[in-house]
Amino acid sequence: MSTPEIGSLTPQALEQALISLGQPAYRAAQVFSWIHEKRAQRFAEMTNLPAPLRRELEGRFSLSPVQVESKRESELDGTVKYLFSLPDGECVEAVLMRYRHGDSLCISTQAGCRMGCTFCASSTLGFSRSLTPWEMLSEVYEAERDSGRKVGSLVLMGIGEPLDNLENVLAFLALLSHPKGKNLSLRHVTLSTCGLADKIEELAEKKLQLTLSVSLHAPDDALRGRTMPVNRAYPIPRLMQACRFYEERTGRRVSFEYALIAGVNDSLEQANALAALLKGTLCHVNLIPVNEVEETGYRHSGREQVFRFQRALEGQGIPVTVRRTLGADIEAACGQLRKSRLQAAQSSPGG
Ligand code: SAH
Repeated sequence: MSTPEIGSLTPQALEQALISLGQPAYRAAQVFSWIHEKRAQRFAEMTNLPAPLRRELEGRFSLSPVQVESKRESELDGTVKYLFSLPDGECVEAVLMRYRHGDSLCISTQAGCRMGCTFCASSTLGFSRSLTPWEMLSEVYEAERDSGRKVGSLVLMGIGEPLDNLENVLAFLALLSHPKGKNLSLRHVTLSTCGLADKIEELAEKKLQLTLSVSLHAPDDALRGRTMPVNRAYPIPRLMQACRFYEERTGRRVSFEYALIAGVNDSLEQANALAALLKGTLCHVNLIPVNEVEETGYRHSGREQVFRFQRALEGQGIPVTVRRTLGADIEAACGQLRKSRLQAAQSSPGG
């Protein structure tokens, strides 16, 4: 069995671990600060700990961060896409984007995904495993270290379904927002879900100040059931009930993602059906022309169609943003880089 990851431990768990090694409690704060504030990469760097303790920790815990396996930088907008490898050889992606208000990082929460959305590159390769709290944190720390930039906001919109890994995601968020660590306010965090309604309700009960973003992509059950298999388990009325519950419990408005696919979900009737569905809820819609993934055969809607769709929603009082496409030249859509890497490994004789 592999050794436990010290970076996944809460301050309390770390304290218990050190006390059980016969150490005074204050050592826990020192170790926590080395990992989460000073971002030490090895126990040997923790110079205010006695050398025997450093060796003991080395033997009992792992501190392996994710490693930058490759990266691509967009010449269009400075977006950096990372392919990170995990200690067991799995790989995930993260994308660092520049905005006027600061840098935003999109991270993966699982290696692969079980949700099977038909338009998504992550679905085509199946699911390996969920990421640990430390692996998610380490995506943030490594992106900051490598780029020399500071992550000011975070989106859980990379590979994987965060609510299919809720326990680890909650532990990760607690560490990420800890005042003695990265100290990122959860107001700067967005969690995106394909719509696991019961998990949305479980998250709502935690009353966190993060933004919930729901990937809707269709205004009716018939279409959504075809493009997003999750809809068969949680049809739209059930999903909307969970969204209202989230809004009630947290006081936060829910965002809805809608990727426009030409001739599939981008008609004026569908815009009106979407408006009718969302009317009266405290919401926000993000429209994005679908990123074209080879196998899916889907094409993104043209500018005109996007504009018409937007106008129809706005005309009915629904707040809408059309998302800019960032990193279009570097396969920045989620799952694309991992897919290229795995496909290259499959087709090379040695891999
Ligand atoms: N599983 C979560 C988060 C990961 S996907 C979720 O479903 O929300 C992040 C976002 O990208 C989701 O809104 C997802 O529907 C969207 N997405 C996936 N493939 C896409 C594509 N080819 N074009 C545009 N958006 C896509």
